[in-house]
Amino acid sequence: MNKLNVLKVEFEFNGIIDVIYPVILRDDNDMILIDCGYPNFLTLIEESAIKNGIDLSKLTKLIITHHDFDHMGSAADFKRKYPNIKILSSIIDEKYISGKEKSLRLQQAESIDDKLAEEQRESSMNFQKTLKSVENIEVDILLNDGDKFDWCGGIEIIETPGHMPGHISIYVKESKILISGDALVIEDNKLSIANPHYTLDMKKARESIHKLLNYNIDKLVCYHGGIYTEEIKTSLKRIGF
Ligand SMILES: [Zn+2]
Repeated sequence: MNKLNVLKVEFEFNGIIDVIYPVILRDDNDMILIDCGYPNFLTLIEESAIKNGIDLSKLTKLIITHHDFDHMGSAADFKRKYPNIKILSSIIDEKYISGKEKSLRLQQAESIDDKLAEEQRESSMNFQKTLKSVENIEVDILLNDGDKFDWCGGIEIIETPGHMPGHISIYVKESKILISGDALVIEDNKLSIANPHYTLDMKKARESIHKLLNYNIDKLVCYHGGIYTEEIKTSLKRIGF
């Protein structure tokens, strides 16, 4: 029994309805969650799992695609509630997830502080406060490019740096599904690269998309945007180089 569920986690932020799409992979031995929402999203994700008939008390692993606060925000809460789960990330992102080094997103926000107009300063300060509130967590298993595991019918780790240097995507071989984290997003029904403002290295981000052409992909799951199936190869060629 290998199953893949895309959770649709809806929430409201500043009066706007938004959605994120964490993924759950399952087989008889493992239940793996890929990315875990903003801080305080544990209950929302649990509720979404229940709607899909999934009991998260069987969770064995949490893979974090990168250390942005909407992807690792509730990791510490998950570990507290489900202490047996192993936390997995790339070697590069481990130091930011564990707090050994300051979050790159926070460094980015701080670095543009003095360039901001007065009216932008308050929202920037709030953003930095939110980033600082993210609880760090020890990573149990470090992931490398090309790592293959037999969990849930077989998955492969693909390093897809750019949005962040330690960003990874997960390829599910059996179903030819790529879970792309923030390497790709869906905007206006079109596959696209994540907001350049939040992509730390645009050249690398495009190279990462080009690299995905090496994989036979039938379906993409974007954390922001959900499932994408139309003309994947053509879209990847358009975005990557
Ligand atoms: Zn991100």
